[in-house]
Amino acid sequence: MEDAHRVLKNIWGFPSFRLSQAEVIKRLIVDNENALVLYPTGGGKSLTYQVPALCLPGLTLVISPLIALMKDQVDALVDRGVKAANLDSTLDAERSAWVKEEVISGRLKLLYVAPERLNNEGFVTMMSHVKISLLAIDESHCISQWGASFRPEYLKIARFAEEMDVERVLCLTATATPNVAKDICKSFYIDAQKGVFRTAVYRPNLALQVRVANTLDQKLDILIPFLKSRIGPAIVYVTLQRHAQEVADHLRPHGMEPMVYHAGLGGDERARVQQQFMESEKGIVCATIAFGMGIDKANIRQVVHLFMPKTLENYSQEVGRAGRDGLPSTCLMFLSAPDIPILEGFCRGDTCNKRSIHLWLQEVVLKTPDKDGTLSFNHYQQSREYDIRANVLGLCYAQLELDHNYIRAVTPFYSQYDMSSRTADGWQKVLGDETEAAKTIKMYWAPRGSTFQIDVVTAAQQSGQDRGDLAKKISDWELSGYVNVKASQVRARYKIVNPLPKELEEIVNITDMMYKRMLDREEEAIVKLRQVIDFATDDACLAQSLASHFGDDGAIPTGLCGSCSFCQTGEGIPFESGAVAQPDPIKIKAILQACPERDDPHLLARMAFGVTSPRLTAGKWSTSHPLFGSMVEVDFNALVEAFDKECARAGYAKADIQPSAAASKKRLMSQSASSSGRGGTSKRARRGW
Ligand code: ADP
Ligand code: MG
Repeated sequence: MEDAHRVLKNIWGFPSFRLSQAEVIKRLIVDNENALVLYPTGGGKSLTYQVPALCLPGLTLVISPLIALMKDQVDALVDRGVKAANLDSTLDAERSAWVKEEVISGRLKLLYVAPERLNNEGFVTMMSHVKISLLAIDESHCISQWGASFRPEYLKIARFAEEMDVERVLCLTATATPNVAKDICKSFYIDAQKGVFRTAVYRPNLALQVRVANTLDQKLDILIPFLKSRIGPAIVYVTLQRHAQEVADHLRPHGMEPMVYHAGLGGDERARVQQQFMESEKGIVCATIAFGMGIDKANIRQVVHLFMPKTLENYSQEVGRAGRDGLPSTCLMFLSAPDIPILEGFCRGDTCNKRSIHLWLQEVVLKTPDKDGTLSFNHYQQSREYDIRANVLGLCYAQLELDHNYIRAVTPFYSQYDMSSRTADGWQKVLGDETEAAKTIKMYWAPRGSTFQIDVVTAAQQSGQDRGDLAKKISDWELSGYVNVKASQVRARYKIVNPLPKELEEIVNITDMMYKRMLDREEEAIVKLRQVIDFATDDACLAQSLASHFGDDGAIPTGLCGSCSFCQTGEGIPFESGAVAQPDPIKIKAILQACPERDDPHLLARMAFGVTSPRLTAGKWSTSHPLFGSMVEVDFNALVEAFDKECARAGYAKADIQPSAAASKKRLMSQSASSSGRGGTSKRARRGW
């Protein structure tokens, strides 16, 4: 531990550890045990692996989901003279070769990668030759399938940790309920008592307030005087990007100069706004929840949720940004019945049609392997074709890999290359290249403006040449400086580890399992949304309820914080969500006329309710269509039921029917018909929020 204190002083110049940082580090480097750290954003999680990284002999591998954040961290470390680097797809060949050399030679102390990197065989092989002293997993709540921020690739980290025999694991997150924490502990063999380090959820200096307002005007009537009374910086959170600008525009006539921040802005603009806010004394920022990761400002006095948050985990993390200096701060959340369908749409958006899963699975199992025995798929294309969101499709593949053990992801590749000449001389060399691969490339490439484009998968199939050889030739030309190359259309590649199921019955079974998992996830998301409403409206102290949600029932001995809206008024907020149970037949008919598809009641229900999906977008029935979201006030399950009747009547016909699907269709249809009315009445009854 002396080592650790010395590193803290010499490298970071900090006199002492914060919170339980010292205990975490001791657990890792003295006890040699795994740990889970649950500190809020800005709590100082990074040091709990960065300091050990410099005390341990081998490499510390950090897995982090965001390339941009990764880069900032690495730059900061390098500035302090620490040997750190990141390895990601944005690096050029020279830089990544350098990083690999530093890793192999053992000079590098910290390596940051995104979880997708674990699919890369070259990376895995390299790691198997390196001693990993510590595996640090940032945002580790992403491994839990029950979280909204679940990332399929995170599921594979535990297997990687075992296969690589990493010496110790540290998981980090700012947001974990007892269930998510349990999931993490189980996956990484972390002792739930001794290995978990958290800060108190209850923050006595935060006054949690809830107000009901049914229109934006009503909200502004409360918000404007609230912001005017501020004595320090304020964050106003909104749900949709466009709201950020809209709300800011409403505040300007009242003598306020709010900043605007959301993920749709350019990187430079985002950095500028963040900087301006950090330096401001009483600045206001109107932002989506993209704002705040890595915001380390101690004196934020107000955090507003102009729209209700999706989950209590989000809420806790966002209000947690207020009053880090311990001084009184106010967090104001608005409850509004018309806002709920948008959030419900987010919850329901991931569930696809069961038939889509079946068709997708059929393609996967029937696909002819490439020459090297692997299967390759363009996820982006499949996502559109089967109307399954990219992240969900990723989960389906991960399930085939981890739950069913049929396939295993290996290094992905690009299928499309655009080549342009770098020098006239170089181009002559390309034209003069007489190797087999070169001749094939030149036979199959086609001019596109100033470049030549080739799809190496198609070219390989048609010429009988190996795809890898073609890709290697192009890369050789690039490395020799003959051409500039832009690769696109990434294809995920899978090794077949066990014979794939070919019987219809097996395929149907797997489809059922995957579909059930999707419905469970959707239901869970709806439950989480309801928790927020219950939290805001129950007859209970808000601060204690929030602490209880995170497992701390005794946070406030009296059970009353004295400063939340419940403690001040003595009662929960009265609130009606006002969902309509029966859809209007005229509106149903309008949707049916606009969208000719009858194979998927969910598709029609989504259009009516206003939930986008790849297929709705492709058919132009999404946000640009005037009827999109035209029945947002209706209970979603009632919509599915109503459209299911119409689809049944039309024999579940698809406008452009695919012959390959016809064989299995009949059977599937009877299933999806019975499942689409799922829990109809019980759920409708419950939507009396
Ligand atoms: P998190 O990852 O938990 O959001 P960070 O690791 O980014 O938080 O740390 C937030 C800030 O706190 C950083 O600026 C960091 O330098 C600072 N910090 C962390 N630990 C200490 C410490 N022991 N003493 C002083 N500052 C610290
Ligand atoms: Mg962090």
